[in-house]
Amino acid sequence: MTEVETSGTGKRVLLAKPRGYCAGVDRAVQTVEEALKLYGAPIYVRKQIVHNKHVVRTLEAQGAIFVEENEEVPEGATVIFSAHGVAPEVYEQAKARSLKAIDATCPLVTKVHQEAKRFAAEDYDILLIGHEGHEEVIGTAGEAPAHIQLVDGPDDADKITVRDPNKVVWLSQTTLSVDETLETVARLKQRLPLLQSPPSDDICYATSNRQHVVKEIAPDCDVVIVVGSRNSSNSVRLVEVALDAGARAGHLVDFAHEIDDAWLAGAGTVGVTSGASVPDELVQQVLVHLAERGFTDVEEITTANERLTFSLPQELKRDMKAAAAARR
Ligand code: SF4
Repeated sequence: MTEVETSGTGKRVLLAKPRGYCAGVDRAVQTVEEALKLYGAPIYVRKQIVHNKHVVRTLEAQGAIFVEENEEVPEGATVIFSAHGVAPEVYEQAKARSLKAIDATCPLVTKVHQEAKRFAAEDYDILLIGHEGHEEVIGTAGEAPAHIQLVDGPDDADKITVRDPNKVVWLSQTTLSVDETLETVARLKQRLPLLQSPPSDDICYATSNRQHVVKEIAPDCDVVIVVGSRNSSNSVRLVEVALDAGARAGHLVDFAHEIDDAWLAGAGTVGVTSGASVPDELVQQVLVHLAERGFTDVEEITTANERLTFSLPQELKRDMKAAAAARR
């Protein structure tokens, strides 16, 4: 249950679980924190380490400097690549500038990169379902640009052309809507009946689990509040999923103070969840905000318990071990 007390005002909150941090985000944020401790500030991070305003601001305050490209990093400095993954050319650029690169790409994104490389090596046409311009899609597509075509939603299915309809596979971004992706695949299969599926789900466990619990609570909610940033794909999807599943309204907020009282007017049940890059303190602040407006009855609805964790990047662990040995 939550840290907010209940008092039976008739207004209630359905709090989704699982919500918030996934294993990949936790690892990426810890990577920056440990790098700051080990090497000292500043540590450069290419792109937002995870798509969350609060996390980025907090790490900036600790000495992280976020840049868009490797050219902004002084030669020889340490740079961390974000959880969303990068194309191979980004490693090359880092090498050319003698940067010490630490790769915080989520292992589940790396898995999709490996699939892309393997199918490209076997000369497949690869249909990558994902959002145009998203960092993860740019990184995955960069593994085999000559073999990959982007399919951004069901309507894009009609635009693709392939060399051999017997040798086509679809892969996807990890943070898509599960239902919309199934729709896109169904549309693709109308044109390409022999289209192959990825060897295992590309949409990650965290994305699917957060969507699943939102689907459970949404039909009972007058409004669903999703804590997350606008550039967070999985957070934006949660609002869409809530609306599709029957919530009468859905809103994305970075912080509790962004909640408009008008959204709560006349509402009896408010659903609350958060994207995979959101620390739970922000959700707790939303619960306090709602409690101050009479929503004191909080029920946590759990549809899965997540226990997955990922170890820190090898290159960082190696240096941490060496530093620990030097102190002995
Ligand atoms: S949302 Fe999924 S793919 Fe993205 S960092 Fe989290 S676990 Fe990894």
